[in-house]
Amino acid sequence: MRKLLLTLILFTSFFSCKTTENTTIKTTNIAENTSTRPKLVVGIVVDQMRYDYLTRFYSKFGKDGFKRLVSGGFSCKNTHFNYVPTYTAPGHTSIYTGTTPATHGIIGNNWFDKESKKYIYCTDDASVKTVGSTSSAGLMSPKNELTTTMTDQLRLDTNFQGKVIGVSIKDRASILPAGHLANAAYWFDGNDQGRFISSTFYIDALPKWVQEFNDSRKVDEYMQTWNTLYDINTYTESIADDNNYEKPFEGLDKATFPYDLKKLAAKNQGYSILKATPFGNTIVKDFAKLAIQNEGLGQDVITDFIAISFSSTDYIGHRFGVDSKEVEDTYIRLDKEIADLLNYLDSQVGKGNYTVFLTADHGAVRVPSYLADLKTHAGYVNQKKLKKKIRKAIRKKYGSDSLIANISNYQVFFDKKALKKADLSLKKVSNYLKSKIENWDNVQQCITGETLKNNSFPNGILHKIQMGYHPKRSGDVVIILDPAYISGYGPQGSTHGSGFTYDTHVPLVFYGKHIPQGKTFRPIVIPDIAATISALLDMQMPNGCTGNPILEIVE
Ligand SMILES: [Zn+2]
Repeated sequence: MRKLLLTLILFTSFFSCKTTENTTIKTTNIAENTSTRPKLVVGIVVDQMRYDYLTRFYSKFGKDGFKRLVSGGFSCKNTHFNYVPTYTAPGHTSIYTGTTPATHGIIGNNWFDKESKKYIYCTDDASVKTVGSTSSAGLMSPKNELTTTMTDQLRLDTNFQGKVIGVSIKDRASILPAGHLANAAYWFDGNDQGRFISSTFYIDALPKWVQEFNDSRKVDEYMQTWNTLYDINTYTESIADDNNYEKPFEGLDKATFPYDLKKLAAKNQGYSILKATPFGNTIVKDFAKLAIQNEGLGQDVITDFIAISFSSTDYIGHRFGVDSKEVEDTYIRLDKEIADLLNYLDSQVGKGNYTVFLTADHGAVRVPSYLADLKTHAGYVNQKKLKKKIRKAIRKKYGSDSLIANISNYQVFFDKKALKKADLSLKKVSNYLKSKIENWDNVQQCITGETLKNNSFPNGILHKIQMGYHPKRSGDVVIILDPAYISGYGPQGSTHGSGFTYDTHVPLVFYGKHIPQGKTFRPIVIPDIAATISALLDMQMPNGCTGNPILEIVE
């Protein structure tokens, strides 16, 4: 007993001695850290990742992926988008510019352009050319992004010595984060190409390593058969594989495992089928690793930035829905991609030399037809009928529906010239239409552009509408449907776009250099991300930034 006690005392004193030593080392590190930046910032955006994907599948994750980020980093568990619409292009732009569509101008993936009276795609740019393939998929740039990104700021701050690279399978998810001053943004050209491409906005020719990757036709290795990684019976967090709420691939009657991609390719836009499978995430991760290696990212004291977006999660969510086995399998596999990426960063850049953040560009609604079958308030507003009804209401009151220029993205655009000709005020016509629409089934409320321009809403759904409303680009009447009601989509698959929590609540985890271990339930909004990264790098915030640094992290 005495011997044991002695051993215990010896052990304890040895242990406390060790603790003191550790504390000393830690203090020195902190002192160093405050004066040094990470060698590399890794931005990870998971397209359509609801907050609950992190918790619902947590028991299925390994220790080196999502769990490593959450347990070793700082998790902001109550992070929301603070604007409507919650679509991909506004989402990625808001994360990287630290502001909302009201300021950065990316009000949708597509929107009706009031001047040309045509739809424009967020990153369309006819003045540039595709680099890396013969298709038109590279006629793109961030020219519609009206403010700088944190990646732009890093380029300016380092006098262009810090490198910035964007990587995604989806064009807009690479271009909008990479910003205006990136060394390059790469995205995947599917169909008959199966290549990573860029645009002359960034570069005149693909670097050798990208060319080699494309020429190797390694892409064919990703065209595998998609089956569940583990026994499907262990996927207890999702509904039966065979259900009425999923959209099968073209050429199939059912949306059930397994999926032979090589066989399905012909009827599903060739290599583009990769986008709607977990292998789309694998190819992005592999390509990101090649970018880190070949561009020498994180190899010197001047901070570099790689913006990686995993977008296959979005295509899969849209096709199979929030509760599908396909989504569960996708996140189990993505966890392994994250683990592999972190391990790679450890070996290539070094543990403690890089800083990661992981978030999403929006969430998603559970398939409304599924929710309706469960007898909750959910469903669909037929888009064609809604548009017809809006036109009819205007026609009945003012004699002609040519006063309406366009109806899209839950907004009505009036033709200002036609209003003037008819001697009608925009305010009067907008208010009339609002009063009509508000009485229709499953419309929660409407608000006019005039009201949004002349008032300030400090919180609630109208605040989110205001933060997503760009005076020059947005419409004249904004329609808000009931929660879990969608229009122009369904009855299979999930979508997003609203200001309700299923669309706004997303994961946000910071990890690595300068990041304390911890969590908070304090409300955080998406623009706070760019403000926080800017503060961590001690550089100027993006020029339109409306977010604030997360104090628990930066102080
Ligand atoms: Zn998205």
